[in-house]
Formats: sequence, structure tokens, C-alpha cells
Amino acid sequence: MAKIGVLCCEKINDRLCIGCIKCHKAIAGKLGKFADHQDEIEIVFWSDCGGCPGLFMPKMVLIDELAAQLGRTYDVVHLGTCITKAVNTAACPINLDDMKAKIEGKWGKKVIIGTHPW
Ligand code: SF4
Ligand code: SF4
Repeated sequence: MAKIGVLCCEKINDRLCIGCIKCHKAIAGKLGKFADHQDEIEIVFWSDCGGCPGLFMPKMVLIDELAAQLGRTYDVVHLGTCITKAVNTAACPINLDDMKAKIEGKWGKKVIIGTHPW
């Protein structure tokens, strides 16, 4: 079982990308970056960047603490395709490689940049 969390762009989530239906379809079909998982995918959390480049790490601290309190382990964090689009097309100042390195360095989780393929 691949236990995953997804972080999305707070501004895109459910405003432009309604209901996160794209990522849920991709998870169901192991499409896009979800194809990296050989095993069945279990979603442990679904959250966002906090709305500001300075908030994704404090947000991840809260997510990790709550997951631990509830006994919910996770192995992989996906940075949503929404975040990659915000960075690549809308001048979002998040540095994706830095975000990945910080999450991997602090919690030892694998970080995959991207989610659905559309
Ligand atoms: S890319 Fe995925 S996580 Fe991001 S808003 Fe769209 S469906 Fe949700
Ligand atoms: S910081 Fe980037 S990823 Fe987060 S809400 Fe703003 S544009 Fe979206």
C-alpha cells in the first residue's frame, strides 16, 4: 500500500480545479505521477500550500503532527500539478526543488513533484 499525501495550490484548489476531480481520476487510474506507485494508493491527507510560499513548511508541521497523533503514517508527498502550473505559468515564487528537499530533509518522506497529467 502506497500511503500518500497531496499538497495543492490553495488558490487553484476547488476554484479553477473543481473538486480535485482530476487528481482523483488520476489516482483511480494510476495516471500521471501516480503511475510511480506500484501498489494500491491510500490517501492519508489532502491539503494545500497554506496560500503563501512561507507557509508550506508550517502547514506540513501541522499535518505531520496530526497524522502522528492519529496514528496515520504516510510515505510519499505529492506536490500537485496545480503547484507546478502556478510556478511555471503564474509566477508563484515557490521553488519546487527546494520545497521537495525541505520536506524530504525534515521528515524523510519521498516527495514527487506533480500529480495528474492534464
Ligand atoms: S492539480 Fe490536483 S490537487 Fe491540485 S487542485 Fe487540481 S485536482 Fe486538486
Ligand atoms: S504560493 Fe503558489 S502554490 Fe501557494 S497559493 Fe500561492 S500561487 Fe498557489
